[in-house]
Amino acid sequence: MARIVMKFGGTSVADLDRIKNVARHVKREVDAGHEVAVVVSAMSGKTNELVGWVQNMPKVTGADHSIYDAREYDAVVASGEQVTSGLLAIALQAMGINARSWQGWQIPIRTDNAHGAARILDIDGEDMIRRMKEGQVAVVAGFQGLGPDNRVATLGRGGSDTSAVALAAAVKADRCDIYTDVDGVYTTDPRIEPKARRLKKIAFEEMLEMASLGAKVLQVRSVELAMVFKVRTFVRSSFEDPDAPGMGDLLNPPGTLICDEDEIVEQEVVTGIAYAKDEAQISLRRLADRPGVSAAIFGPLAENHINVDMIVQNISEDGSKTDMTFTVPSGDVDKALRVLGENKEKIGYDVVQSESGLVKVSVIGIGMRSHAGVAATAFRALAEKGINIKAITTSEIKISILIDGPYAELAVRTLHSCYGLDKS
Ligand code: ADP
Ligand code: ASP
Ligand code: MG
Repeated sequence: MARIVMKFGGTSVADLDRIKNVARHVKREVDAGHEVAVVVSAMSGKTNELVGWVQNMPKVTGADHSIYDAREYDAVVASGEQVTSGLLAIALQAMGINARSWQGWQIPIRTDNAHGAARILDIDGEDMIRRMKEGQVAVVAGFQGLGPDNRVATLGRGGSDTSAVALAAAVKADRCDIYTDVDGVYTTDPRIEPKARRLKKIAFEEMLEMASLGAKVLQVRSVELAMVFKVRTFVRSSFEDPDAPGMGDLLNPPGTLICDEDEIVEQEVVTGIAYAKDEAQISLRRLADRPGVSAAIFGPLAENHINVDMIVQNISEDGSKTDMTFTVPSGDVDKALRVLGENKEKIGYDVVQSESGLVKVSVIGIGMRSHAGVAATAFRALAEKGINIKAITTSEIKISILIDGPYAELAVRTLHSCYGLDKS
């Protein structure tokens, strides 16, 4: 007998029939004698709709551009998960399972005060464990918790993954299964590259890079929690027949295990390719080349919560003027340009240029630590396809390359194939 947390994403609970299908997955584990808690997302598309309503409200009221109260944003967007948790509890009850829905505030899942992007601080698992031992199946609304102001707080897009892993850690679950619309983690997004291969296992660190570099199959924070609390996390499909052979396998369920790198016997040099759309590049021309100039640029951007990613500074020819280029999410360009404009005197630059609609493609693999020439292979392959590189950053286990948006899919496929990742 094991204790399992099962999480179902938006497409898995997209309508009533799918919710019934999810209930069959849950029933399989309950019938096998396991203690089960479930975490659900909102129906797919629902959260986007709710976010859209909130964003459009200031246009209707005539309020100052897109300003709205983040606490009320959370009150609205958390509602999608409330609906699916209730519906799944009803479906489970109809199958004779003792199920009950739980909102974040009822457990409670305590978060910090960062409404819209809150972090889970604490979940008291004891009561939940007691109920599980009594055979109750808790159906927990993902994506939401209770802030220190006693208000609903949401965890950022994709946050139900984090709810599930945090709950699994709190109840000391043997396994956390993230059910989604793909049957595991692939070498790259299988929607872009049909030749992508499913990975049997992927190391925490690699999954962390994949997620933070754009593979939205897991929210970044969920991978961090799984790594810190050693939660045995599987990514698997809810679209397979719940009663197909092997689906209830306790140790080796179908899907991808996120685990310590020591558990991976055959480590490849490159494990996967990720991509992130909607990057923008900002260049400051003819900056004074003096100590403090970077602080003068990036300090005010950080204060305005603008996430700067790749940074490239040129060496100045005569030691007096230089250029600085960096990337921000496309949605933040206008804000960034405003902040830079306000600080023009202090920073001391000549002109600022910006370009949106860029894409960052990344090559990820722990094996890079001990192999030379991985970056050169990427550059050569992209050059052969005539893809121009705008910026590069590297770390021990990843290379990120900034390119023009229209080349995204070609670049992903080119890199996937040049490292031998295509399935044969
Ligand atoms: P859910 O609604 O279940 O949370 P998401 O849409 O958030 O599902 O995440 C699943 C999607 O992630 C898949 O449909 C797939 O297109 C995308 N994805 C991106 N990169 C990968 C990858 N490397 N492996 C698997 N899926 C990926
Ligand atoms: N429903 C939320 C979202 O769409 C949370 C999630 O699906 O994980 O972002
Ligand atoms: Mg998701």
